[in-house]
Amino acid sequence: MKTDKSCDILPNYVGGKWIEPAGGNELDVINPATGEKLGIVRLSSKAEMDQAISVAKDAFRSWRDTPPVDRARYFFKLKELLEEDFENLSRILTMENGKTLAEARGSVRRGIENVEAACGMPSLMQGYTLEDVAVGIDCQAVRQPMGVFGCITPFNFPAMVPLWFFPTAVACGNTFVVKPSEQTPLSQRRMFELVDKAGFPPGVINLVNGDGEAAGAMISNPDIKGVSFVGSSAVAESVYKEASKYGKRVQALGGAKNFVVVMPDCELDSTVSNLIDSIYGCAGERCLAASVVLAVGDIYDRFKAKLHEAAKKIKIGNGLDESVNMGPVISEAHKARVVSYIEKGVAEGADLLLDGRDAEVTDCLGGFFVGPTLFDNVKPDMTIAREEIFGPVASIIKVKDIAEALDIIHGNEYGNATSIYTSSGKHVRRFTHEVGISMIGVNIGVAAPMAFFMFGGTNKSFFGDLKAYGRDGIEFYTDKRVIISRWF
Ligand code: NAD
Repeated sequence: MKTDKSCDILPNYVGGKWIEPAGGNELDVINPATGEKLGIVRLSSKAEMDQAISVAKDAFRSWRDTPPVDRARYFFKLKELLEEDFENLSRILTMENGKTLAEARGSVRRGIENVEAACGMPSLMQGYTLEDVAVGIDCQAVRQPMGVFGCITPFNFPAMVPLWFFPTAVACGNTFVVKPSEQTPLSQRRMFELVDKAGFPPGVINLVNGDGEAAGAMISNPDIKGVSFVGSSAVAESVYKEASKYGKRVQALGGAKNFVVVMPDCELDSTVSNLIDSIYGCAGERCLAASVVLAVGDIYDRFKAKLHEAAKKIKIGNGLDESVNMGPVISEAHKARVVSYIEKGVAEGADLLLDGRDAEVTDCLGGFFVGPTLFDNVKPDMTIAREEIFGPVASIIKVKDIAEALDIIHGNEYGNATSIYTSSGKHVRRFTHEVGISMIGVNIGVAAPMAFFMFGGTNKSFFGDLKAYGRDGIEFYTDKRVIISRWF
């Protein structure tokens, strides 16, 4: 990969061709582990987004008439190409995002599973029929693709999140435009080289690089039937409102503040090793990351001591080094934001057990590192216990019972994921029945649904009704027709 002066300006991929965006502002793509420049994103204009949507609209006519089995075959080919490129794609992802290679591989694997699921579309998108709804009359319900859909995606899972959407949408017979994060566009460039190699007809899947302006152009374009968005809650909410105003379908996945309940009857060692990954994995930049641990009753001190010990052992550094457990956060600005939260925690009276603010990696002095950070004696109304930090910062709160834990969770405005660690079926039953959060882990700290279930939160973590992928994805990307027939 070229760096610095010889950096590439990232092209768009529209109508099966690579096109350099015409003008406008440019942003550098930075390796967050080193500060090194990896590429340049030239921000596409509204006109460039509109052009890509118009090309996708033209491609829809013949793509929707392509039999589902033939459409699926392109995804078998893409799956094969993704497998061949697995290591390369994972390395690009580590370089642009900072997560470790093991984490990058895990997320590319999860993305490939969505491609595999799309290969089953001839079975999955079937409708249903009833003979003789009245004498001599039959009724048939079929699903049909709708036209052009698009996705707008965040920096933290740049290879995986677009794969949550375009395989399902396109295998259902729609055409598609991906607008990746302007901070991490490199893995999508590689993905589209593979899309190109897989031989999808021109215009079926398109890539437009840009920021909020290009995203806004997608949302307001009259030829876009629906938008899949993933990002922070404030933007998710505005995308939901804006897209609804234009009569679009919209699923907007937002930010998170995830609470975890540790019961006195949990398996303590396994709980701690599992939670360490949930809290500090991907440097806390995961919408499923545990952020606040509610430790119940007399487990509190033992749990705190073990979590503290384990957190101290985490090795930070460049994710390309296989011995590293945690990489940097995405940017200098984001590091400053995370540090400001740590400062707020101290100012509001929490005890800072482990302070990651001065983390330094000697062979990566240009990187944006925050070390594992742990707060004790946190109160539910403190800023660090309420707001999304999106960094390697965890809080522990002592609660007397499961009822108090549930009250704290219910008092938070987000609702993405939550977990309980226990060996009691009774506690699990109560927790899963009452917690009201969408993705629930039982002795699992990262409750990430696989491609054939659905992904998405509730409350301020999700705006819409049909969630990402699984059956909901097929529902979102198709419209249903009912045909009632009689033959004289
Ligand atoms: P972000 O909201 O800053 O950006 C996300 C995308 O929105 C980017 O592509 C960006 O260009 C685009 N965008 C920016 N302004 C816009 C506007 N006004 N209108 C339309 N689009 C606009 O989010 P981020 O910092 O890239 O990602 C981190 C956030 O994403 C965190 O809050 C995290 O919790 C969330 N996230 C949620 C999930 C989930 O499944 N709920 C998954 C991953 C990340």
